[in-house]
Amino acid sequence: MSPQPGLADSLERLGTETAFTVLARARQLEAEGRDVIHLEIGEPDFGTPPHICEAAFEAMRSGETGYCPSAGIPTLREAAAAYLSNSRNLEIPAERIVVGTGAKPFLFFTVLAVCNPGDEVIYPDPGFPIYESAIRFAGATPVALPLIEDRDFSFDPADLESRLTPNTKLVILNSPENPTGGVIGAGDLEQTARLLSESGAWVLSDEVYARIQYDGAFRSIASQDGLIDRTVLLDGLSKTYSMTGWRCGFASVPEPLVEPLVRFFVNSTSCVPPFVQAAGVTALTGPQDAPAAMVEEFRRRRDMVVAGLNELPGVTCRTPAGAFYAFPNVKGTGIPAAELAERLLEEAGVAVLAGTAFGAVATDNLRLSYASSFESLERAIERIGAFLKTA
Ligand code: PLP
Repeated sequence: MSPQPGLADSLERLGTETAFTVLARARQLEAEGRDVIHLEIGEPDFGTPPHICEAAFEAMRSGETGYCPSAGIPTLREAAAAYLSNSRNLEIPAERIVVGTGAKPFLFFTVLAVCNPGDEVIYPDPGFPIYESAIRFAGATPVALPLIEDRDFSFDPADLESRLTPNTKLVILNSPENPTGGVIGAGDLEQTARLLSESGAWVLSDEVYARIQYDGAFRSIASQDGLIDRTVLLDGLSKTYSMTGWRCGFASVPEPLVEPLVRFFVNSTSCVPPFVQAAGVTALTGPQDAPAAMVEEFRRRRDMVVAGLNELPGVTCRTPAGAFYAFPNVKGTGIPAAELAERLLEEAGVAVLAGTAFGAVATDNLRLSYASSFESLERAIERIGAFLKTA
């Protein structure tokens, strides 16, 4: 037998999501009989609302089970255009909407569609790890924009200004933010919009947590200064409607990028299953009480988790304004955050992520997802407290 064939060099530039690695280790511990509280994964712990499931069953029963247009079925493109227009105070035509298998592929495909090797892409650090992975894989140069704890994990627009160069091809923003729960405030957003409209860069605004904001109204960068024509405004069903496994996202896309992005979907997934898209239409246009109730429950948990964390020795925690993550600073414990994350899993049975799973900047933080039941969150805080007393 000849030696095994090798792999592509480009794989060295492809990152991953640590959350899945930690989940795998936690499951292994559980298989050995250990009890683990899961605060590592970023998905709502609520079921998809029944009326949305019913819309999918109905579509399947009526034969909507074949291939369909790669850009999305017309009814979902129209519903998403109306949804994004109403929630962002914009007028977005349905032809600008592209539907994809979750929000995630848009991150990759946008970077691949606009970047040549050597182009610079600015992205938040700490940030969703797929940004950096996509940038590196495309051969572009990642330029980290630090989020600042003292600014409740917003970036300083002056830091953005100093990073914008004639080579900046794309700026990625995410508000409300994963992993910090931070939100870009109104003043910062206006300043950012001014800088971006003066720059020659595309913008990718990841707004998958737009509906999970607790304090103040959600604001999109795309609503400012005509930036909608430069911005891939990305949203989806996963977080808002508890539909992570359905794999359906959508974006308002600048006209010149519509065809290239659709071409990526033609080349990869072909289409989002039509019954999933039918469910998406119902999600966007039907009753909105389920997502509203979910956000209220997240708020209750957030308040308890943040208060609980702030009582632990050596731990301080900002109050996140959105998403469902707390990002406590654990420097005062004297245990490096990455080591603490590992020991909490192995010794205390609480699965969390280190801030460094999201970039180089957040060396003193942990990420706790509070998309877990109130009582398991209470137990988790107790366990972390007991661990810190003896560690
Ligand atoms: N963007 C951010 C900031 C996220 O946190 C996630 C999921 O965790 C995604 C995008 C991907 O969402 P989807 O399930 O729609 O692919």
